[in-house]
Amino acid sequence: MTVSDIDAIRHLAEEQIRIPSVTGTESAVLDHLQHTVLKSFTGEIIRHGHNLILLDPAYDPTRPTVGFNGHVDTVPYGDLSKWHVTQPTVPVVRDGRLYGRGAVDMAGGNAVWLHLLQHPPADRRVNLIGVLTHGEETGIPDGVTELIAAGILPDIDALVVPEPTDESAVLGTFSTYNFTIRTSGQAGHTALDAGPNAIHELLSVAQQVVFFADSLLREVETGVREKLHITLIEGGQALNVIPDAASLSFNFRADPALTDEEVLHRLTFLEGRDFDYQSHRGGITPLADREVFRSLIGDQVGQVLQYWTDQSQWSQAGIPTINLGPSPAKLAHQYDEYVDLDSLQRCYESAVRWVTSLDKSTFKQPQ
Ligand SMILES: [Zn+2]
Repeated sequence: MTVSDIDAIRHLAEEQIRIPSVTGTESAVLDHLQHTVLKSFTGEIIRHGHNLILLDPAYDPTRPTVGFNGHVDTVPYGDLSKWHVTQPTVPVVRDGRLYGRGAVDMAGGNAVWLHLLQHPPADRRVNLIGVLTHGEETGIPDGVTELIAAGILPDIDALVVPEPTDESAVLGTFSTYNFTIRTSGQAGHTALDAGPNAIHELLSVAQQVVFFADSLLREVETGVREKLHITLIEGGQALNVIPDAASLSFNFRADPALTDEEVLHRLTFLEGRDFDYQSHRGGITPLADREVFRSLIGDQVGQVLQYWTDQSQWSQAGIPTINLGPSPAKLAHQYDEYVDLDSLQRCYESAVRWVTSLDKSTFKQPQ
């Protein structure tokens, strides 16, 4: 690492911050990267919609391919009067921190890897790849969904998603499901023996949901347990009216190895019920695949988190992928968002160490 490396990384991050790229407006920052910032990049650059794929200048299809995926979109700026250090698209360095919208989520992490792609270590025995995508902040489908579906990516053996993780390895995320169950009754005076009571009916379902929640012992490989919580209950009209409608919602953080169908199959209390749900599939890189990242993450067990990143989609596609990036995640989406320059420097050093440690023998062919 030289002074010029961190200067170059800071510059690459600043160039992303400078161009507004709130989700839905990413084409300008992609144009700027492709035609100006990466003008001297000697590898192939493939533009696919609002996504960019950067290929190693010495790309050799017989070598393994590793690299990074980062999103170029940011969340909105919020109330501009609450930005004190600088304005969202005016990058400023103060006290070793680079400020601006997207600094930590995730221009900084992208910059580390873009610098590595522009100056790949001469002694590498793998190809490097960079995948810049759009639309991550509003969930799937996003740029990663498009690239995987389009089938235009070369074979990829491992990826790092440099979202802010404070330099620790995040192996994946749970799936998250929001269910709503509705029951119905017949409205009538409570003094009369009228039709069915929607709340009584709902409470009997609620009991089954709680029983299921209490019985959850299913762990993902890293030893983290599934969780289910009832989060909302609604129903009733007045103190002397038999309720004709009621509903409850619950949030289920489920093992990402399960398909929607398998999850539904487990929730037997839904049978015959009026319900709907939304799902957000997670994904966890299996522990066996963690070996590929050994020289990057050392003996870290790797956490499993609840917030979602594109890592899930790569890992569902069978590509070993971890989240590992600079500075704590809590800095993301905040006013006066910043990334620590020291952390960028350490991320760069560990990325160089990782890519130069890899060769064909790291990626054993399936038997
Ligand atoms: Zn992000």
